[in-house]
Amino acid sequence: MTKYATLLLLGVLTMTQAQTDPRMYDIAEAVSAERLEKDVTILANFGTRHTLSDTVSDTRGIGAARRWVKQEFESISRDCNNCLEVFYQKDLVKEGANARIPFDVWVVNVVAVQRGTKYPNRFVIMSGDIDSRASEANNYTIDAPGANDNATGIAGALEAARVLSNYTFESSIIYTGLSGEEQGLFGGAGLAAYAKEQGWEIIGVLNNDMIGNITGVNGVISNRDFRIFSEPVPPTETERERTMRRFYGGEVDGISRQLARYVHKTTQTYMPEMNPMLIYRLDRFGRGGHHRPFNDAGFAGIRIMEAHENYTQQHQDIRVEDGIAYGDVLEHVNFDYAAKLTAVNAISMAALAWAPPAPENVQIGGIVEPSAKLKWDKVPGAVGYKIYWRDTTSPTWDYSRAVGDVSEHTLEGIVIDNSFFGVAAVGKDGHESVVVFPGGVFR
Ligand SMILES: [Zn+2]
Repeated sequence: MTKYATLLLLGVLTMTQAQTDPRMYDIAEAVSAERLEKDVTILANFGTRHTLSDTVSDTRGIGAARRWVKQEFESISRDCNNCLEVFYQKDLVKEGANARIPFDVWVVNVVAVQRGTKYPNRFVIMSGDIDSRASEANNYTIDAPGANDNATGIAGALEAARVLSNYTFESSIIYTGLSGEEQGLFGGAGLAAYAKEQGWEIIGVLNNDMIGNITGVNGVISNRDFRIFSEPVPPTETERERTMRRFYGGEVDGISRQLARYVHKTTQTYMPEMNPMLIYRLDRFGRGGHHRPFNDAGFAGIRIMEAHENYTQQHQDIRVEDGIAYGDVLEHVNFDYAAKLTAVNAISMAALAWAPPAPENVQIGGIVEPSAKLKWDKVPGAVGYKIYWRDTTSPTWDYSRAVGDVSEHTLEGIVIDNSFFGVAAVGKDGHESVVVFPGGVFR
């Protein structure tokens, strides 16, 4: 083989390697349904984890549950040479904050930080909820095992920590069990406020809420479908940004939507057996989840959850009525499915935490011209950039071009009017940042 041919071959190999990272398959496979089952069982057996429930008992109530979650993160940390910083983040919520807070209560989140080597203050966050409820929102003594809602979410965060703590990442990863969700999203609000105080740079929040049910109340059964909810644009956008959108687009291209597309694409790349469904709304119709307080604070955040819900098994007292077994009990959780959705989180967080920061100051030009132009500020750690575009009616970034380590590029012959455009930064292992939709226009 000539030297030139060898170089060519090396070039081809490098390009192939840049497309997929074999570690990602290892991560997806390492997630254990058995460990998830063990943890969800322990959580369900605290009887209730209602936010207002007993905090003193070692066997029942939210106090016992959060202490167990903290101990579990600490035990995972011991196994990785103390790679996790584990702490409680808590806020006192005062009586009457809303109708679901009848007396003062400490809302206590458990947080585990796996510090990034290069960007210790940049975070990707995976959350689940510690708290549970039954039929009556304020009944904090009746059994509320919350096996699916949301022991699966917090068990998923624990399991992702077990798997990802075997690797080191450039950005930091946070695994968290939030509380106060059912009483009014208090734990998420508390941690979002704490993140702002601390000046955390948040890449995104993957909020997991119910990731274990495969049998829908409508009879649909699928262990492959799952939903990714994201709001179209941040509620914090300014009047000027709103006006800009009218003329330059971006109605369905906010930061949370880009994060949703990222998870969708990462799943299709590394777990093609799964069927991720992008849902173009903040959450289910009229319902809430813990990504919302992060969105309210201006952070990107999405909800990952099962596709086919069973309402007789959520927020229900355990009972049999008209032949229907109500209640959120262990028997209804499919742990292989919960493992799949946990793996979706783990690979998405790994990709984001291995990727360089997203390009900054992305701008677009090309009005009344035959070609669209993009320019951006380079970011440290990127070896190149990728321009993405799609038809205006498409939910996903269907076209892309790797443009090398440059800070501007013209897409010859692609008219700006008929597509939406964005730019991502690419790192040395091929991992990409979230796509950034242009925030400005140039001539
Ligand atoms: Zn719930």
